[in-house]
Amino acid sequence: MAEIPTKARAVVIGGGVSGCSVAYHLAKAGWTDVVLLERRKLTSGTTWHAAGLIGQLRGSANMTRLAKYSADLYRGLEAETGVATGMRQVGSISVALTAERHEELLRQATVARIFDVEVHEISPAEAKAKYPHLNIDGVVGAVALPLDGQCDPANIAMALAKGARMRGAKIFEGATVTKVTTAGGRVTGVDYETAEGPGHIEADVIVNCGGMWGRDLALQNGVTLPLHACEHFYLITEPVAGLDPNTPVLRVPDECAYYKQDAGKMMLGAFEPKAKPWGMDGIRKDFEFDTLPEDWDHFMPILEHAMNRMPLFQTAGIHTFFNGPESFTPDDRYYLGEAPEVKGYWIAAGYNSIGIVSSGGAGQALAHWITEGEPPFDLWEVDIRRAQPFQKNRKYLKERVSETLGLLYADHFPYRQVVTSRGVRRSPIHDQLAARGAVFGEVAGWERANWFANEGQEREYRYSWKRQNWFDNNRAEHMAVREAAGLFDMTSFGKIRIEGRDACAFLNRISSAQMDVAVGRIVYTMFLNDRGGIEADLTVTRLSETAFLAVVPGATLQRNLAWMRANLGDDFAVITDVTAAESVLCLMGPQSREVLAKVSPNDFSNAGHPFGNAKEIEIGMGLARAHRVTYVGELGWELYVSADQTAHVFEAIMEAQPDLKLCGLHTLDSCRIEKAYRHWGHDITDEDHVLDAGLGFTVSRKKPAFLGREAVLRREQQGLDRKLLQFRLKDPDPLLFHNEAIVRDGKIVGPVTSGAYGHFLGGAIGMGYVPAKGQSDDDILSARYEIEVAGQRHEAIASLAPMYDPKSERIRA
Ligand SMILES: Cc1cc2nc3c(=O)[nH]c(=O)nc-3n(C[C@H](O)[C@H](O)[C@H](O)COP(=O)(O)OP(=O)(O)OC[C@H]3O[C@@H](n4cnc5c(N)ncnc54)[C@H](O)[C@@H]3O)c2cc1C
Repeated sequence: MAEIPTKARAVVIGGGVSGCSVAYHLAKAGWTDVVLLERRKLTSGTTWHAAGLIGQLRGSANMTRLAKYSADLYRGLEAETGVATGMRQVGSISVALTAERHEELLRQATVARIFDVEVHEISPAEAKAKYPHLNIDGVVGAVALPLDGQCDPANIAMALAKGARMRGAKIFEGATVTKVTTAGGRVTGVDYETAEGPGHIEADVIVNCGGMWGRDLALQNGVTLPLHACEHFYLITEPVAGLDPNTPVLRVPDECAYYKQDAGKMMLGAFEPKAKPWGMDGIRKDFEFDTLPEDWDHFMPILEHAMNRMPLFQTAGIHTFFNGPESFTPDDRYYLGEAPEVKGYWIAAGYNSIGIVSSGGAGQALAHWITEGEPPFDLWEVDIRRAQPFQKNRKYLKERVSETLGLLYADHFPYRQVVTSRGVRRSPIHDQLAARGAVFGEVAGWERANWFANEGQEREYRYSWKRQNWFDNNRAEHMAVREAAGLFDMTSFGKIRIEGRDACAFLNRISSAQMDVAVGRIVYTMFLNDRGGIEADLTVTRLSETAFLAVVPGATLQRNLAWMRANLGDDFAVITDVTAAESVLCLMGPQSREVLAKVSPNDFSNAGHPFGNAKEIEIGMGLARAHRVTYVGELGWELYVSADQTAHVFEAIMEAQPDLKLCGLHTLDSCRIEKAYRHWGHDITDEDHVLDAGLGFTVSRKKPAFLGREAVLRREQQGLDRKLLQFRLKDPDPLLFHNEAIVRDGKIVGPVTSGAYGHFLGGAIGMGYVPAKGQSDDDILSARYEIEVAGQRHEAIASLAPMYDPKSERIRA
């Protein structure tokens, strides 16, 4: 064995497909001084036994972009490296057995068209013609993706490893990283162990590609990497006479099954609804190319369906029953990026059974992020900064991954909630809300009332692509906010206190808006990156000369904390997560002032408490800080109440106004979309320029310097690339969720970034970007717009200004 270097620019830990791809792409990006350490043999963890399905269509534009990149890369790898990869574009077919699944497939076909993936909607008879072994009894419809493929996963990884070596990377097997070493919050290298003894490599950058070992390795450095292995099954028949080698991959999600022709045999793989978590007490030290025990009882329901769906399973002998472990994450999305806890600690792990198709693109994106200092495009969906520290809890993970494996093939209904590992984070008034009919959803571990059931109404979601069972509840809540008043519990907001001598200067340096404001002022601002992209969208309230409170979405809190800490530099300010200290009750609507007057002696008039200001108030027998802001487009106050007084304040309000409408998160969303308020992660991301997003009003033109300023000035000179429009469907019946296609003068121009029903405006409302380069607003607005929903196009009215209360008169009423 060649000698392991004592110094490297980057050390990649793990020689599965993920590590091999990261090493390949780092070397390709010019970081040739890269070392990959693998504890046993390359691919010996999960990679060697993957089924090798390469499906390009994923849930969003950028995930599809990465999967497409993988498919393109793998097609050329054999010629590049001489390693046979088995990559063949046999195409894929997905069939629906229910009308709801058919709607999902048709919506996915629209998504494919937006992202330029070739797709065909086909009838059951056409599916049969393409796939003679398929029994089409009960098949409602299907879609075919002719450019999808299949490959030999282990050889894909070996080809990537060879490609990395060809560019100078050094790869060592039999070298276990025992510790990532750090100093002063930064990576300094790795300690490793080989048969010859221990060693150390000095490096500023390490990439944890440790697959199902990744969580425990990360934990040693206090890094949160919430993933957990599950048993994952497939079986392979004996050779089947006459099986066409070009048989496409077939997915029958309603029967939790996929089928792949494999060297004249047929493979049947399972995504069963309740999976079997594995490896809770750690993974055996000598685990290498291992398999797990057969479990016929567990697999039988899938096989029974298969014998009907593909009758060849009734006669073909079984050659292999395979069970191997793979890591799954709490939200079925993998992790990429730099861990917020330790500088230089990068991650590419937790692939939820799509690691082969994902790793090509993910490796390329991560290498770009490491070498260029920023991701190539918005990667929030898979960003490690979405992980919550509590999620490394093993009991939580074990229960959750038993569900997430199956969710991959479940109906992906809008608003679908997970059912396992619930109740970890709760508002102090959770039980009061439950007693009043709250139906909860979960985000970042927080239980949040999504809607309120009426007396006697079932408190469960009935999911559908059409109007769900809470549609009328949402309408009643929405209209109460528009016409009277409604109370939301928004305790899940992330709250960050920034305090110290330089707090103001620091915030001014990273914010688009002016932060040096009077005490009590609330500023709506963006954090921009140096491309003018939006890293965060938040309000910041000046609490005192030296203390500020930033309020951010619960889901982005860790990311926002990480961004602040990474940009603090030498400024003297302490950044503290104070989320759990205060609850937030939002009283919104034209009658909110009268309601507040019943429980508080303070002055809530425009003169006494103007918009954009926070004041301490007496409420009931306690205190709150009332912030006059809104995310629903109405007169209203957000009441920040210390956690211990929250139940009292809630009771005081409800006693004073017993008929006050309690409102859920679905209503917050429908109201904000009706008012065209942007939501970070949907309508605005680090890839979206603040001016394209129509948020130029949050950018101070007077501040001489702040992060992103030059990018704003540049875009002002060069003109906007795109503009964010609001749309309303003329037909009040269809619904918009997101990812429907915006069609301009007959041509698809992009996805709907967020959608909901505008109960006040009387139709589905969506937002989304349209090209704007060199065009006037008249050009843009005079075009003919339609929105494509599941293959059907619906006429839409487009607007640059919010359709609801365009001058925001109601907010300042
Ligand atoms: C039954 C089954 C079918 C699948 N089918 C598909 C499919 O059709 N398509 C698809 O895209 N995906 C599929 N997958 C998923 C895919 O196999 C995985 O997502 C992928 O292999 C994960 O790759 P990885 O590199 O993250 O993990 P691994 O392959 O497990 O690699 C991690 C490596 O890190 C090494 N390591 C860990 N700790 C250390 C340390 N401290 N020091 C040094 N080395 C270390 C391990 O030895 C291991 O080799 C399937 C998985 C299973 C189980």
